[in-house]
Amino acid sequence: MVHLQPNVLEPAEYVKPLEGKVAVVTGGSRGIGAEIAKVLARNGALVAINYQSSSGKADDIVHEIEQEGGTAFAFKADVMVADNVHKFIEEVLERYGQIDILINNAGITRDKTFRKMSIEEWEEVINVNLNSVFKTTSEVINHMLEQKYGRIINISSIIGQSGGFGQTNYSASKAGLLGFTKSLALETAKNGITVNAICPGFIETEMVLAMPENVKESIIAKVPMRRLGQTDEVADTVLFLIKSSYITGQEINVNGGLYM
Ligand code: NAP
Repeated sequence: MVHLQPNVLEPAEYVKPLEGKVAVVTGGSRGIGAEIAKVLARNGALVAINYQSSSGKADDIVHEIEQEGGTAFAFKADVMVADNVHKFIEEVLERYGQIDILINNAGITRDKTFRKMSIEEWEEVINVNLNSVFKTTSEVINHMLEQKYGRIINISSIIGQSGGFGQTNYSASKAGLLGFTKSLALETAKNGITVNAICPGFIETEMVLAMPENVKESIIAKVPMRRLGQTDEVADTVLFLIKSSYITGQEINVNGGLYM
C-alpha cells in the first residue's frame, strides 16, 4: 500500500517569490505605496521607501514590515529634486547592493478647473507625478541593464485614460506616464527588463477620502462594482506584474470596471 504524502508545506519551506530581490517604492509612507511596500516585503523583497514629509508614517511602515520578519528602510527624499533622488538610490545600493524593482508611485493632485489653475499648480503636479519618473528611472536603469533583469512599474491612473474634470494637470501627468511606459518597454525589452503601468480607479486612500462626501458617492454610483478599490488590490497587481516575465508595455486597469 502506498502512503501519499499530504501536499502541505511547512511554513519554513514556503518559497517567497521575491527572495533576493531589492525593491524601491517611491511614496511608500502612505496609501497605495505603503501597501505595495508591505506586500513586496512579505514576498521576500528587501524594500526601500521614500517620502517627502511623513517621516513618522514611513517609520511605522518599516516597523510593521520588520515585525512581520521583513527588511525595509525609509529615506526622506523629495522626488522633485534630482539630488534627493540620487542620494536615495545611492543609499539603497549601499545597503542592499543592487536594485531589481522600481515602483514609481509617489503622486499628488492639485485639482482646479483649467481657467482657475495657476502655472505653479500645473508645474508641481507635472514635476511630482511625471518628471520625477525620469529622475528615479535614470538612476536605476543602468544597474538593471547590467544585471539583465528589471521590473519598472509606474502607477498611473484612470484619469490619465479618461480625463477628469478639474484635473488637466493630473490627467496630463498620468497620460504622460503611459507613453513613457510603452517607449521605455520597447527600449529595454531585449535586456530582461519589463516596464508596465497600473491605472487604478478610485482607491480608498487619503487622496480619495479627502473628496467631499457627495463627490465620493457620485463616483461609487458610477463604478460597476459599486465600491472604492482597496490598496491591497493594487499591491497584488504589482506583485503579479513583477512575477510576469512576458508582460511589458501594458497598462493594467484596477478600477472595478469603471473604464474598459
Ligand atoms: P497618498 O495617500 O496621497 O500618498 C502619496 C505618497 O506620495 C506619500 O507617500 C507621499 O509622501 C508621497 N509623495 C508625494 N509627493 C512627494 C514628493 N514630492 N516626494 C516624495 N514623495 C512624495 O496617495 P495614494 O492615493 O496612495 O496614491 C499613490 C499613487 O497612486 C499616486 O501616484 C496617485 O496618483 C496614484 N493613484 C491613486 C488613486 C487613488 O484613488 N488613491 C487612483 C489612481 C492613481 P508624504 O507622506 O511624505 O507626503
